[in-house]
Amino acid sequence: MARPTNVQRAGFQTATVTRIVKESVDARTFVLRPHEQPITYRAGQFCTFRVTVDGEVLYRSYSMSSAPETDSELMTTVKRVPGGKVSNWMHDNLTEGDELELGPVTGRFCLRESAAPLLGFSGGSGITPILSLAKSVLATTDRRVRLLCADRDADSMIFGEALTALTARYPGRLEVRRHLDSSGGFLDADAVRAFVGPDGHGEAYVCGPEAFMEMVENALPGPGAIYSERFGTPVPATPPVSADPIAGGAAVVSPEIGPSGTHTSVSAATPATAAPPPQGETGTVTILLNRKKKTVPRRAGETLLESARRAGLVPPFSCEAGNCATCIAKVTSGHATLRVNEALTDDELDEGYVLTCQAVPDTDSITVDYE
Ligand SMILES: Cc1cc2nc3c(=O)[nH]c(=O)nc-3n(C[C@H](O)[C@H](O)[C@H](O)COP(=O)(O)OP(=O)(O)OC[C@H]3O[C@@H](n4cnc5c(N)ncnc54)[C@H](O)[C@@H]3O)c2cc1C
Repeated sequence: MARPTNVQRAGFQTATVTRIVKESVDARTFVLRPHEQPITYRAGQFCTFRVTVDGEVLYRSYSMSSAPETDSELMTTVKRVPGGKVSNWMHDNLTEGDELELGPVTGRFCLRESAAPLLGFSGGSGITPILSLAKSVLATTDRRVRLLCADRDADSMIFGEALTALTARYPGRLEVRRHLDSSGGFLDADAVRAFVGPDGHGEAYVCGPEAFMEMVENALPGPGAIYSERFGTPVPATPPVSADPIAGGAAVVSPEIGPSGTHTSVSAATPATAAPPPQGETGTVTILLNRKKKTVPRRAGETLLESARRAGLVPPFSCEAGNCATCIAKVTSGHATLRVNEALTDDELDEGYVLTCQAVPDTDSITVDYE
């Protein structure tokens, strides 16, 4: 069976920015009209965008703030990250009528069959997928929705009007509680538990800065399920990697910045070195990307993404935490195990797709195809 979103996976398509909406002092909604085909998505999912900033091709994931059941247009909402390349570029450069390259739709931060109330917890831009989920669940079910949204201050509040309108439209079903750090300090565990009250059986959806998410996840009293979407925490740049003689002398330069997730089992991209493989290690990793085929000796514990970089290739990636699927590729021979998988379905895994940022070969030799 073909990967469900394969048509889109096969490549990026162009979308026109038809409208830009100022949501807060540092958040904008970009309304998009894809050129080639309508985007099929579920509430809570995200797309990967490919933009060129100062000559550098960068990939970033952004969630939909629209919901397929309630919005005829596709929207994503982007908050400026201080010093961030892509978010600031989008805010400062994009105008209505401009074009963006839009990649695959993916993500598992989606609604499950349930009658329990939906409890949404957002910090800052984390409200983007939470709004999408709320709109969808309100429109398609009878479930109650309760949102606890934290923002820095009143100027930073995103979707104030949209949520007020939704509350009026669904009286008794939607409750939105706002928390402003400026007046109460950071949200804390007591406030989370007080908010949940007797709704501990509710299904919690959590998205925001890592510290916020950890606090909420630990504070939730249960027994309801917890679903989390991690936007990733930036890590310092990895130093340039020296040439690897085996890879044909190509100097592999690690990406300057790779936002990294925070799952403890994930190791950030490790710079490869020119050192020979450890004694006793056998096998090869063959990578097909952009009509190039490279083979490097297998190194224990190295992910396929790391091997591809060591081979002198520039593979796509974004979160490097197993969340976004920007680095997806298909294993065509051999086998790899994923350290973390927050993006691929069981069917996709069965078909041989892997997240190369998380896939460590467990056969001597392996071939992986990014096409
Ligand atoms: C699944 C998913 C969904 C997402 N959805 C959304 C969404 O809906 N809305 C949204 O706003 N965001 C979303 N994000 C986050 C988004 O993808 C970007 O990570 C975010 O916009 C920052 O990207 P940037 O290019 O602006 O910043 P980057 O350039 O990646 O920089 C990030 C931070 O790192 C710092 N930094 C940069 N270079 C270095 C360096 N060399 N050393 C140390 N620090 C450095 C910067 O100062 C900045 O603070 C999502 C992420 C994921 C994984």
